[in-house]
Amino acid sequence: MKKIAVLTSGGDAPGMNAAIRAVVRKAIYHNVQVYGVYNGYQGLIDGNIGEMELGSVGDIIHRGGTVLLSARCDEFTTDEGQWKAIKQLKRHEIDGLIVIGGDGSIRGAQQLTEKKFPCIGIPATIDNDISGTDFTIGFDTALNTIIEAIDKIRDTATSHERTYIIEVMGRDAGDLALWAGLADGAESILIPEYTEKFEDVIDRLKRGHERGKRHSIIILAEGVGSGFDYGKRIQEATNMETRVTVLGYIQRGGSPTAADRVLASRLGAKAVDSLLEGKHGRMVGLQNNVLVNHHISEALSNEMMFNTEMYTLSKELSI
Ligand code: ADP
Repeated sequence: MKKIAVLTSGGDAPGMNAAIRAVVRKAIYHNVQVYGVYNGYQGLIDGNIGEMELGSVGDIIHRGGTVLLSARCDEFTTDEGQWKAIKQLKRHEIDGLIVIGGDGSIRGAQQLTEKKFPCIGIPATIDNDISGTDFTIGFDTALNTIIEAIDKIRDTATSHERTYIIEVMGRDAGDLALWAGLADGAESILIPEYTEKFEDVIDRLKRGHERGKRHSIIILAEGVGSGFDYGKRIQEATNMETRVTVLGYIQRGGSPTAADRVLASRLGAKAVDSLLEGKHGRMVGLQNNVLVNHHISEALSNEMMFNTEMYTLSKELSI
């Protein structure tokens, strides 16, 4: 391969820039030219492509968001859209493409590979909902943002007798809620992977209240439902004052943590190596601290390993 391209797609995640940087630098290290595609698959179809140099990725390792911009693109989900994308790549004499994004974006990379255009996926989403890697790029930063916010809420919580519900992101996955709940000693963690009986949540709140707890924190994953609806039900059932905070988009921003920068750098470099070694249609990942590159279909298989041990522990520690 003489020329490769890189794009970011779908929801942005902190650490995407560190991944772009690693791809660009590792490719140049191997004497391969690198092109950046701006605006995700939409930019690919439109031919929004420019060459990147060592300096193009200077001073971005610590920045959230993505310098290549991101987009969602319905046209790309069609065969016609994908052939248009391949035409643009061929027009620029590009031999391989690295896609940084969530599961949808990586499925797009698989579609192009099936049409004989070599691609590699790099998992980047705050949701940590991809099975072929222990962690996705952005998860650690989002988790730390959540912890910082809950710590602040906890300060005010200690001054008032209230129940606090904090709704966090994660789409259909409960990892952000589970990790945040464990890291912040929440009384209850409500996640899509496990349906806890409403009465059990109420019982725990009442028991805590009876033994003198002045406040309780409940972390609710967005995949379970609306924090405001849940807060209303809790207030009605307990007669305790209840406050709801929906953390929203602050979870997607901010400077990536050291863990995310290191993960992004390792996965970016591994993606280039995989492409150059001819291992196409793969998604790079990190499992048990070993870099892997499983076939995309395998890496996205929905057998997400729900961490029962962590969930049980959170229950044991919040008695
Ligand atoms: P994420 O990558 O964060 O999961 P999306 O699921 O919205 O975000 O996917 C981002 C983009 O990837 C979509 O707008 C679309 O262009 C492309 N995409 C998603 N799913 C597929 C698919 N099954 N086949 C081809 N392209 C897809």
